[in-house]
Amino acid sequence: MVKILLNGARGRMGQAIQAIAAAEEVEIVAAIDMGDDPVPGLKECEVAIDFSFHEATAPLAKLCAEYGKPLVIGTTGHTPEEKEAVAEYTAQIPMVWAGNFSTGVNLLFYLVGKAAKILGREYHPELIEMHHCHKKDAPSGTAEHLLEIIRAARGLTPEQEMHGRKGLVGERPDDEIGVHALRGGDVVGDHTVMFAGPGERIELTHKASDRRIFAQGALRAAHWVVGKPIGLYRIEDVLGLRD
Ligand code: NAD
Repeated sequence: MVKILLNGARGRMGQAIQAIAAAEEVEIVAAIDMGDDPVPGLKECEVAIDFSFHEATAPLAKLCAEYGKPLVIGTTGHTPEEKEAVAEYTAQIPMVWAGNFSTGVNLLFYLVGKAAKILGREYHPELIEMHHCHKKDAPSGTAEHLLEIIRAARGLTPEQEMHGRKGLVGERPDDEIGVHALRGGDVVGDHTVMFAGPGERIELTHKASDRRIFAQGALRAAHWVVGKPIGLYRIEDVLGLRD
């Protein structure tokens, strides 16, 4: 059993984690949410898990560093400043930070990287994601990561691409990556990367239908990160997916 502090416990992901905790050999010693004091739980836990709101991650990371506790971050939608603030604490504690904890999505990341390298610039990438109507950030953390993967595989800088296109007329530039975020209903999370080329197109799609996949990944990361050296880890490290 690993003892965890769960931040964002009343939310959709918080509840998904609590539902499987015992089966995943995890004891939740503190289930906290907005307005609760994390300190008593932090003292007791072996690792903290954050599935809350982007503003809450850096203050929790600061406390984890103070109490020497590893941190698993699932929250998305951080501003560049918030990302920088959180990243500072990777010099003090081990941290697993992933915008998507599902094994299938991490396989999608791998396949999209391969496809973007193999398919030439004449295959235009378009990224389509859909989530439930309550999701607070857009595009999703997963879409942002897919964008980074395509960008890296194509040697593009952020300035060379465009996030989405409004009313674009005329020819599509080869270096553009369209990002389309759809919101509605109770969709847990769909991501498609389309490479539209001359005479054919390839679509790689992942569809999540149960939050359990993210919860299981996060708890696997919590088990894994306890006792690891200080530093920043990705879910690929936990799943052994690095090339
Ligand atoms: P949610 O809105 O259902 O739940 C968020 C919870 O956080 C709420 O209970 C809210 O009260 C709480 N909260 C807000 N501010 C807080 C604060 N300052 N301190 C403590 N708690 C606070 O959202 P959700 O669907 O559970 O998703 C939570 C986060 O996880 C989102 O950023 C979402 O994008 C992300 N997410 C990540 C993955 C992944 O695999 N990494 C998967 C699903 C969702």
